[in-house]
Amino acid sequence: MLLHIRTTVLWQPASPSHIIANTPVHLYVQSSSITQVTELLNTHSFSFSVLLENTQDLIQEQTRNITTDPRSSGKTYERYHSLEDIYYLLNNTNHEHPDMTKLILIGSSFEKNPLYLLKLSGRRGPVDKAMWIDCGIHAREWISPAFCLWFIKYALTFYKESPEITTMLDKMDIYILPVLNPDGYKYTWTTYPESEPEVQAVTKFLRAHKNSIKLYFSMHSYSQMLLFPYSYTHEQIPNHSELYHLVQEASIKIRRHYKNLYSYGSGAKTIYLAPGGSDDWAYDQGILYSFTFELQDRGRYGFLLPPNLISSACNEALAGVKTIVMRVLEKLQ
Ligand SMILES: [Zn+2]
Repeated sequence: MLLHIRTTVLWQPASPSHIIANTPVHLYVQSSSITQVTELLNTHSFSFSVLLENTQDLIQEQTRNITTDPRSSGKTYERYHSLEDIYYLLNNTNHEHPDMTKLILIGSSFEKNPLYLLKLSGRRGPVDKAMWIDCGIHAREWISPAFCLWFIKYALTFYKESPEITTMLDKMDIYILPVLNPDGYKYTWTTYPESEPEVQAVTKFLRAHKNSIKLYFSMHSYSQMLLFPYSYTHEQIPNHSELYHLVQEASIKIRRHYKNLYSYGSGAKTIYLAPGGSDDWAYDQGILYSFTFELQDRGRYGFLLPPNLISSACNEALAGVKTIVMRVLEKLQ
């Protein structure tokens, strides 16, 4: 794994054009530029504080497990994995659960890394409904692919045990794309845009299945937000209040069970006006229950979320997904 770290990187908001007055900005500053950056901030009377010092230890902690054999021990899902290990885990899962999973190659990236989609289904005949979850659109958001793997493991473990998971898998097929941007994931920490072939493969698949796919989730980090369209315009979608109540209920559930605060609302109102949200695109394709989740944390670790927080980050996001899906299934009855 290459760790290219440019001297100063904007972590939040996602782009300099979204910096607005009286709103915090998160910067990743390399130690060699700390003096320079601090002087600059002082010169312009910006108040600031250090959220996290000595990130080197955290980066080592995040990448330590990457070289170890994913088969070697427990807690596989409480680690971050290399792209190769993720492919290994997906293949392995597919072999272990032939009755419930199907690994589908939907295309390949610009650098010819395969785009694997895992289809999860209950042990039953064909159904006419499906949902979609994608992870790893943005390379440095490592908790996102970790969530997709967590979801797969959880669903397979608790099918026929958890009523919610059983209902989900009995009523719907679930398509999970754990790494949408494999090239970027491989070279994390560079700003590697998602390239055309990945986006084309995903849009082609979603268009081909848009009559069955009723729910769309895109997992990101960080900032703890449950969002829905639109992000590109302040215009409200026709079912705005319906989706608002869904994310509100999910946020309340997370706060009650995990004591963690998730803000919620339409993207444009909750974060800022920004083009290119995949939930906007999915919604405009006719998937009326489209969401973007921004997972942990709220800036203490930012993109460097330590592995020991993977389980809480994934469990609370899963609670949010389950809450929304159960409600939507009731509506679609
Ligand atoms: Zn993102």
